[in-house]
Amino acid sequence: MTNQDIAGGQMHQDTGSIESESVGHEWERFLDDSRQFGSFYTSLIGSLTGQENLDENLLPSLNTQELHATGQVILATVLEFQEHQHLKVQEQAMTARGMLLQAFDETLLPNDTTQYRIEEVRTGIYFIFISPDLYQRLGGAGAQARTVMPRNGVAFVMVREKGSSVNDRYYKENIPHETQHLVRFALRKNDLWTTEEKSETWKRGFGTFRDELIARLVSDGHMSAYSIRGEEITEEIRAILDQTLQTNDMLEELENLRRETAILQKEDLILMVFQSNNFNALQSNIERMTRCTVV
Ligand SMILES: [Zn+2]
Repeated sequence: MTNQDIAGGQMHQDTGSIESESVGHEWERFLDDSRQFGSFYTSLIGSLTGQENLDENLLPSLNTQELHATGQVILATVLEFQEHQHLKVQEQAMTARGMLLQAFDETLLPNDTTQYRIEEVRTGIYFIFISPDLYQRLGGAGAQARTVMPRNGVAFVMVREKGSSVNDRYYKENIPHETQHLVRFALRKNDLWTTEEKSETWKRGFGTFRDELIARLVSDGHMSAYSIRGEEITEEIRAILDQTLQTNDMLEELENLRRETAILQKEDLILMVFQSNNFNALQSNIERMTRCTVV
């Protein structure tokens, strides 16, 4: 098993000379693989949010050995990450405040602990729900939730408290979305999140885009993503932003088609995104998906 088998491997060899009948066949097989992988992955994320249990039949039923191995490595990595996080919190007797102190200055955090509460929704998966006021003071105003990933610390998700049920659409979108970022954190730590782009900046931009897109595919999110934000615009950054826009346009076209034809489910797209290692690969995978959906 190489690292590339997880994220960034080549999805598919396009020979360009296959007869249409076998293309149809191949497409069906790929769609089937994609659907199985998408169901497994979505169920895994759902289980990490504490909202459901991982459907144990999904991993064994993955079609190919390669996909099966990929699923197994993801699962093992996530489990190890959970244990590691949980142990660290136990050892350090870390409280919600202690967790927040990994990322924020003491002066920003009130002693009034009614302003935040921590939930370990699954072993080692921590969500801190924060009052809207404090959430804003901690600089989170631009988004309803965010994932904090201290280099050698305990990763956690900050959520702006809304006082509504966790089944609310607000939580339904934000909680799985941020959980994907935690999984990315675990995969990257284990060198299972590879990208092949022109430079470090490009790699960072694409890595963010892929993660964000998967986060939106496993939740109720809009099918588009961002790459680089809030940085000074250099020629290189402009080129990355151009390609980001272009990719989002293609995703929008695919999404419209998906809604019209009802052939594809959102989770069917997770595999192809996972297996793209740069913008070009992702674009050709989206193009292929679009082409096949038209037919
Ligand atoms: Zn995100």
